[in-house]
Amino acid sequence: MTDPRILRELELDTVVRLYRASGQAHAEEGEAAPPVARMPAPSSNAVVAGLGWDGLREAVRDCRLCGLCAQRKQAVLGVGDPRAQWLFVGEGPGADEDEQGEPFVGQAGKLLDSMLGAIGLRRGEAVYIANVVKCRPPGNRTPTADEAQACAPFLDRQVALIQPKLIVALGKSAATRLLGTEASLASLRGKVHRYQGIPVVVTYHPAYLLRSLPEKAKAWEDLLFARRTLTAA
Ligand code: URA
Repeated sequence: MTDPRILRELELDTVVRLYRASGQAHAEEGEAAPPVARMPAPSSNAVVAGLGWDGLREAVRDCRLCGLCAQRKQAVLGVGDPRAQWLFVGEGPGADEDEQGEPFVGQAGKLLDSMLGAIGLRRGEAVYIANVVKCRPPGNRTPTADEAQACAPFLDRQVALIQPKLIVALGKSAATRLLGTEASLASLRGKVHRYQGIPVVVTYHPAYLLRSLPEKAKAWEDLLFARRTLTAA
């Protein structure tokens, strides 16, 4: 049995706890346990794909897989109906979200709430809101590809648990992460894409819309398109 102090030192204690809880460990006392180094990292699907909401929340809260953990006040998992039909995916928490622990609570969040209201939706009712990365990038910069990759199993697990009927990718980071393309947002709008078999519609990020008011009309078209897509799904 590995000394718990060493696991804490290596920041592997949460991993090991989750690994054991997932029932994959045969690390009973006295039984030959696999060496810690061979255990999957917490972000690997082997562990995260077996987590329920509580385990996922804990894994995200304790995650130290990329540099974003260094400056966060808290990780921000997501908010809403755990069996929502609609999943909105943004980029990453900003200062307000880092403070409050909920996605889209700042100015961009107010606009997102209005956008939801415009198509008859409300935060928390048939809607779940998540981000590509769960920790605030310093200065609200765009998350790097490595940061998005490190966080990917968490978003994937959210998608698997929620099983939404439709995903709306808010902005370039979400579109790139979900669709695996660097294509421009303009070229991705107005089409039904797929992520793990689920229809995905792409629109502008609310923070961008705050700076580019003329694009709001296009975002409105996208939301109507998304609603039609969901109805047809
Ligand atoms: N922008 C995002 O992409 N996500 C948030 O949660 C807040 C602002």
